[in-house]
Amino acid sequence: MSTVSEALVPPARPRLAVWKLASCDGCQLTLLDCEDELLALADRVEIAHFFEASSADAPGPYDLSLVEGSVTTPDALALVRHIRAVSRRLVTIGACATAGGIQALRNFADVAEFRAAVYARPDYIDTLATSTPVSAHVPVDFELQGCPIDRVQLLEVITAHLAGRTPGIPDHSVCFECKRRGNVCVTVAHGTPCLGPVTHAGCGALCPSYHRGCYGCFGPSDSPNLRALVPLLRRDGMDREAVVRLLRTFNAYSPAFARASTALEEGEDASAPQPAPTARGDGPGPDEPEGAGP
Ligand code: SF4
Ligand code: SF4
Repeated sequence: MSTVSEALVPPARPRLAVWKLASCDGCQLTLLDCEDELLALADRVEIAHFFEASSADAPGPYDLSLVEGSVTTPDALALVRHIRAVSRRLVTIGACATAGGIQALRNFADVAEFRAAVYARPDYIDTLATSTPVSAHVPVDFELQGCPIDRVQLLEVITAHLAGRTPGIPDHSVCFECKRRGNVCVTVAHGTPCLGPVTHAGCGALCPSYHRGCYGCFGPSDSPNLRALVPLLRRDGMDREAVVRLLRTFNAYSPAFARASTALEEGEDASAPQPAPTARGDGPGPDEPEGAGP
């Protein structure tokens, strides 16, 4: 039986921590952008560590850690191991934390050359040769993609993890969102190159809604079929170098994107006829009518 003094103590709120590695802070800002929902969230959880919002720093353990940014330095590597050790659940947020980010372009180059070109005293810079997602180093409970992430999806992920259920985040491609909005497909109608068929949903097909092709900022969809898409990008006027750049901009670490871009760079004839797609998520079929996504 509880004592009177115990009965007066409010139940402990779940403890939330938000961390930053190599990144632009945009995904943490998405949390601050939640405004009204953030106030409700702050009532339900203790925000124990969130340097973008407060200099207060309560020590762990934490019930949920959100991690933004990629691992690019020895300090960041030590930090992700610490975060994992003090967090019951660890969720990575954004393209950097889930796929290495734009800074993963270094994975295809000589980082010492970059360091010498950018810094007056490169010997002061302690950096790793690669930019890698958090999941390359420690187990991750959920990855929320996007550059930046979508605020509604972020709130769903937080509430789902605090309630102990699986987040309801679809893993289909941007093409599904395009069709749901009734967009005319920019590839089919205008021959505009678009990464929508291989890009994770979440933005509501923002770029095609403004008659632009998707450039992949929400990361790879489930089972992206680059073998089918790359020939369409070439057909629509992109040379090999442009396709390599497009594939690597946000998705350099993704195995499927890295394989396809490296094959192109090494001279594989990406415009050679490919077998027709057969499985879900296999990407575009060139003969679909206007208004339907490839
Ligand atoms: S359409 Fe593509 S590039 Fe544009 S916001 Fe969505 S995922 Fe990002
Ligand atoms: S390929 Fe077409 S349907 Fe798919 S996202 Fe791009 S514009 Fe939309």
